[in-house]
Amino acid sequence: MDWFHTEQACLDYLQKLRWPHEFVCPRCGVISAPLKTSRNRLVCQSCKHQASVTAGTLFDKTRTPLKVWLAAAWYITNQKQGVSALGLQRVLGLGSYQTAWTMLHRFRRAMVRPGRDMLGGLVEVDETFIAIGDKAQSVNAKGRKSHTAKTLVVIAVEMIEPKGFGRIRLRRIVDDSESQVLPFVKDAIEAGATVHTDGSAAYRHLKEEGYVHQQSVMLGSDTPAHVSMPGVHRVAALIHRWLLGTHQGAVQPAQLDYYLEEFVFRFNRRQSLSRGMLFYRLLEQAVVTDPVTYQHVVAQSKLRVIQSMELSG
Ligand SMILES: [Zn+2]
Repeated sequence: MDWFHTEQACLDYLQKLRWPHEFVCPRCGVISAPLKTSRNRLVCQSCKHQASVTAGTLFDKTRTPLKVWLAAAWYITNQKQGVSALGLQRVLGLGSYQTAWTMLHRFRRAMVRPGRDMLGGLVEVDETFIAIGDKAQSVNAKGRKSHTAKTLVVIAVEMIEPKGFGRIRLRRIVDDSESQVLPFVKDAIEAGATVHTDGSAAYRHLKEEGYVHQQSVMLGSDTPAHVSMPGVHRVAALIHRWLLGTHQGAVQPAQLDYYLEEFVFRFNRRQSLSRGMLFYRLLEQAVVTDPVTYQHVVAQSKLRVIQSMELSG
């Protein structure tokens, strides 16, 4: 609040994040110092295109003051376990729940970093079912039975020798077939890495894809999963606890992807020494994330519900 008490201070900060070296015209690509006509207007010296600091970013066309956005980012990155839209609404004193919800979902999208580094070294990969409950339905007045959904998620965890975990990647998948898990491995893990899986046939072509394949066959083995695959086991337990704790089992299946991205964002930065760094990283990603409207998020949720209904037959 001290740093960003005026809209101008917020704009200056975002401009610095978006163009760390020199202004690049979004239309003609010419690099030169822009002419400033108003606080959010930057005019390209070459083609006279009028750019703004926020257009084309997560903050495009927002009617919420930027200092509220930045306060929200600070709050989101300071809560170790994540926040709910209601919590955000309360702490920022927002009149509208919808505003809080939209901000939170926009920031979740910014947590998905495009072109992020791939995992390497020794990586455990396995699928697990995550139970997501809909608590709102379980406590309704009609005494309807608790409604829980199970979703299959594939998890990759970097294993640090001799002990500990590095970064992770997650993806929601429709089944545990090769067509689901192999593209995930190729997107998440660099070739040449050692991939540790169970005996599932879905992973039988890892060697052809350039990985070193280490297999633990569980069938008929006395070794329980948490011993042979400790990374995946641990991460699955943390996701489960996080969904039930922070979000109280109220995560909609259609929104699960964004919650998983938030989990990955937090997990992979859990050792960041300063919260300020987390805040900085989130905003750094926000200025390169396409704008999305409330209507768009809702429409996409509906589409995902339809898709998952179709997929589950
Ligand atoms: Zn230009």
